[in-house]
Amino acid sequence: MAEKKRISLLLKISIGFLIGIIFGFAVGPVVPTSPVLGNYVMPFIDLIGKIFLRLLMMLIVPLVFASLVAGAASVGDIHKLGRIGVKTLALYLITTAVAIVLGLACGNLFQPGIGMNIPGGLSATARESKPIADVILDIFPSNPLASMVNANMLQIIVFALFFGVACIMAGEKGKKISDFFEGVADVMYQVVHVVMNFAPYGVFALITGTAAKFGIAILAPFAKVIAAVYIGCIIHAVLVYSGMIAMFCKRSPFWYFRGVREAGITAFVTRSSSGTLPITMENVRENLGVSEGVSSFVLPLGATINMDGTALYQGVCALFVAQAFNVPLTLNMQIGIVATATLASIGTAGVPGAGLIMLTMVLTSVGLPIEGIALVAGIDVILDAARTCLNVVGDTAVCAVVASSEGDELTN
Ligand code: ASP
Repeated sequence: MAEKKRISLLLKISIGFLIGIIFGFAVGPVVPTSPVLGNYVMPFIDLIGKIFLRLLMMLIVPLVFASLVAGAASVGDIHKLGRIGVKTLALYLITTAVAIVLGLACGNLFQPGIGMNIPGGLSATARESKPIADVILDIFPSNPLASMVNANMLQIIVFALFFGVACIMAGEKGKKISDFFEGVADVMYQVVHVVMNFAPYGVFALITGTAAKFGIAILAPFAKVIAAVYIGCIIHAVLVYSGMIAMFCKRSPFWYFRGVREAGITAFVTRSSSGTLPITMENVRENLGVSEGVSSFVLPLGATINMDGTALYQGVCALFVAQAFNVPLTLNMQIGIVATATLASIGTAGVPGAGLIMLTMVLTSVGLPIEGIALVAGIDVILDAARTCLNVVGDTAVCAVVASSEGDELTN
């Protein structure tokens, strides 16, 4: 029964997505001339999309904090937590580096910027990158409540880990506290279920807005760069994630992709890894069988620092800009892109459009014209959808591998 309900929800989300694209493309050109569409229908659809986004955001902080405290306390062993941390970080780094190399390969193959006629007057300003000491310092909260109010994920993770481990150290009394947070986490998962029932409408609304705004015509001059990013993302998911799942979890890629489909679609339409987090956590627990101990640590961390899609996109876009501005890219410059894009993707926040801002860092570091940002900005929403989807799916792949290596009983 539950399985049937689940399939029908997934079907509804997929239908909402497809109808949204078709409807958006169809009404897009008439919106400016139709008062009914322009003043009533589209604003209403926009409102539905925004409500869906807010409902997702509403879940993040309590869900992550409560489930991470309960998760850390349930792992019970500081060495085990450390081991999970090392495996997770290693896998995140390796998959990200592979993604950039794939992005560069796609950029070399598709040659998306060759022969582009760039209109004059484009401008953009470089983003100052933070000193590394500040980046490290920023991981540690000075006031955990402020971290929660600002939804600063890394600081919340750090505090929750301390808190969860201290619950074990505090013995009987600490157990009461971690049981309480386990209860809060369970309640929050119920809220996730309720919100997910709204997903088909939210997905429809968000994708309709995007399709109507862009239309098919704008895509033509950028077809190659879009194709390079989308095909790169698909290849990365199919080869790298399927390979990891088959090799380390001994499961079929179908089992895996079916299990994380809702998170993938939600990431595509919301363009936010952080916003998708509640659904990502729900999917890996319910559909793949990952334990709370592993998922509550691996996924929030992934939504903050693991961005394979963003890394791949930065590889493609660096080449795109170089080609469009006729700057020859040497092998050394491409190696520089791998290094800076890895760091840039780690520093990219899991919110819409963050990758574009970090692209300035990659371009400046290898001496490419910063004006290239303005070139990419026009279609960034379309690229953001694909890269966010890969970002989220990449987190789930690492999560499943770590879970299986830690002896979690994955579903069949
Ligand atoms: N939107 C992406 C995410 O949330 C980040 C990016 O813009 O690359 O994962």
